[in-house]
Amino acid sequence: MRITPCGAAGGEVTGSAYLVESGSAQFLIDCGLFQGGRRSEALNVCPAQSSASTLAAVLLTHAHLDHVGRLPLLYQAGFRGPILGTPATLELAGLILRDAARVQLFDVERKNRRLERAGKPAARPLYTPDEVEQTLRLLRPVPYRTPVPIGPGIEAVWQEAGHMLGSASILVTASGRKVVFSGDLGPLHAPILREFEPFADADTVFLESTYGDREHRSFSQTVAEFQGIVEEAARDGGRMLVPTFAVGRAQLLTVLLAEMFRKGRVTPFPVFLDSPMAIEASKILHRHPELFDREMHEFLKNGNLEDDLRTLRCTASAEESRQINQTRGACFVMAGAGMCNAGRILHHLRHNLWKPDTHVIIVGFQSRDSLGRRLIEGAREVRIFGEPVQVKAKIHTLGGFSAHAGQSDLLRWLAPVAHRHPRILLTHGEDNARSALATKIRDQFGLDAALPALNVPIDL
Ligand SMILES: [Zn+2]
Repeated sequence: MRITPCGAAGGEVTGSAYLVESGSAQFLIDCGLFQGGRRSEALNVCPAQSSASTLAAVLLTHAHLDHVGRLPLLYQAGFRGPILGTPATLELAGLILRDAARVQLFDVERKNRRLERAGKPAARPLYTPDEVEQTLRLLRPVPYRTPVPIGPGIEAVWQEAGHMLGSASILVTASGRKVVFSGDLGPLHAPILREFEPFADADTVFLESTYGDREHRSFSQTVAEFQGIVEEAARDGGRMLVPTFAVGRAQLLTVLLAEMFRKGRVTPFPVFLDSPMAIEASKILHRHPELFDREMHEFLKNGNLEDDLRTLRCTASAEESRQINQTRGACFVMAGAGMCNAGRILHHLRHNLWKPDTHVIIVGFQSRDSLGRRLIEGAREVRIFGEPVQVKAKIHTLGGFSAHAGQSDLLRWLAPVAHRHPRILLTHGEDNARSALATKIRDQFGLDAALPALNVPIDL
């Protein structure tokens, strides 16, 4: 068996894709987009370009764009086989790929206006909405914990990864070998979703290492901090603005607010889910109660979520979004983009950053050049749509709502299989994170972990 990491290796964190060649069959695990800067994005070519039309299948661990975003390139190269994933993963993959095609089209149109003025030839998007629709026709759902045939003598099993709705690790059995791909792993003790389910038997393990060198603040501490901010803002009648990505944290925060309303910790105030994509993601979440953890089932059993969230408004249109500014008193607004670099959140920030009773709650990573980062760093004035805006709002940063396992949770996932002395390969992490995790694995289990390079085949 031969496995080639075609992304998320060599220190790259995005672009996850593995080409697996076993006997007569070739297939991919994930087919993700490289993101974050021109150098990474230049790597966005089709994995297995020359053999795309003969690939047996693509096996998806989960729906994040850095795991599914190159699927339409595979379609362009002639792939027509099945794309396999859990039902929730496939629903979310549709939402995320359609949005990616829309964003690419928008970016290319803007770029082309500039190129046209400069008399240069027009650029093309990586793929079009139509190619996404063609690609989505290849999606085929698979159940958790049930062997699925991939090719002659090859089968795969999907097992809970606790990272996002529908996420899984995948065990591939072929030529008498058992290879586990962790996919992205979630932190233990996070609300709503089930926790990851480790493997007890494998002879090779590809393990993600995004936070291989770090621990997060505990979820319970972060939740307590969040509740404190909400109570203060509600008391002062302030407006809470939360820049957030559409899938994941928007749904988490909605449930946390429902719990506060139900327990009477605050008087219910208007909650705006101001993102068409987040509204869709919430609907997908509530279609999959089978993926909830025990606490979430208890919570749903002991009360009615719709009653708790009577003040929730989903604002799909831009006009509805503008009307949020007419609301007086305490309210909670979730809008994209998550790093405040585009989207509806910019309008809300422009209208409210200069008011001292506004609370901006940052719940996700903010990249170096983003507006979100400048707010975290204490800027007194920022420019939004070319206009200077004073920052008098309170800026809160909550670092603990990560969807990724920290170092000790990664080690906990590995522990049950470690006694088998598997070959361990660390991917999906920057080099310092991978090395730190490798050292911990040596200390704790006496096993050497390799740090594979991008596009270099590994023979098993
Ligand atoms: Zn992910």
